[in-house]
Amino acid sequence: MSRGNLFVISAPSGAGKSTILKKLLAKVPNLAFSVSHTTRTPRPGESNGREYHFVDRPTFERMRADQAFLEWAEVHGNLYGTSRKAIEAQQARGIDVFLDIDVQGARQLRDCGHPGAIFLFIAPPSWPELERRLRGRGTDPEETVQLRLNNARHEMEDAGRYDYLVINDRLDEAVEVLRAVVIAERCKARRTPDGQPLDLAALGFTAQ
Ligand code: ADP
Ligand code: 5GP
Repeated sequence: MSRGNLFVISAPSGAGKSTILKKLLAKVPNLAFSVSHTTRTPRPGESNGREYHFVDRPTFERMRADQAFLEWAEVHGNLYGTSRKAIEAQQARGIDVFLDIDVQGARQLRDCGHPGAIFLFIAPPSWPELERRLRGRGTDPEETVQLRLNNARHEMEDAGRYDYLVINDRLDEAVEVLRAVVIAERCKARRTPDGQPLDLAALGFTAQ
């Protein structure tokens, strides 16, 4: 069984990353989303274990001390981390895993040479549109929106370090671009577009 790919995806808050990933996961087989741990409070509609594992600071810090995180960062005033356990098990089963992490976390994975990880950056089509989407989401107080907008300027500067840039103007097109990247990377790893390994026996190429 060949190992699943690791896709690392970053974007300024409000660019549409969660929306795109939700659609992609519904469309493409053998893909999993890595559920991070965070100290942020849940937004309306979010549930524990689905979008995030919501934990308090002491719990997060204990996990960090126990080396439970592949990477972690403080983002917009909250702690976020990817637990090693969750992604290892999926990749070992041949499933591709998507990490939705910020630019600091992506830098950690790039700098420690995480083998074969594929880095994607989602950009909004413009600054005014990012502002509109962040406010339109209606889940964050104005102070949080301002903090996230200020951070967006620095985050956009990292776009050039990623393997792929996806501009989320029309949602369906952005999802299609991501799907194309997933399929291309599967072909590169000598797997089928559905993510299955090449099975010579099943194709009738058995040894004489
Ligand atoms: P992120 O996960 O990057 O913080 P979200 O996925 O929560 O962003 O998207 C922010 C807001 O923008 C949501 O209200 C979402 O419905 C909207 N949105 C996402 N993609 C598009 C798009 N291509 N066109 C218009 N609105 C979008
Ligand atoms: P939000 O609070 O909007 O869900 O996420 C805020 C930011 O935290 C986003 O940029 C998101 O990608 C990032 N993030 C979510 N989980 C992780 C994680 O496990 N590690 C890191 N480094 N960033 C994360």
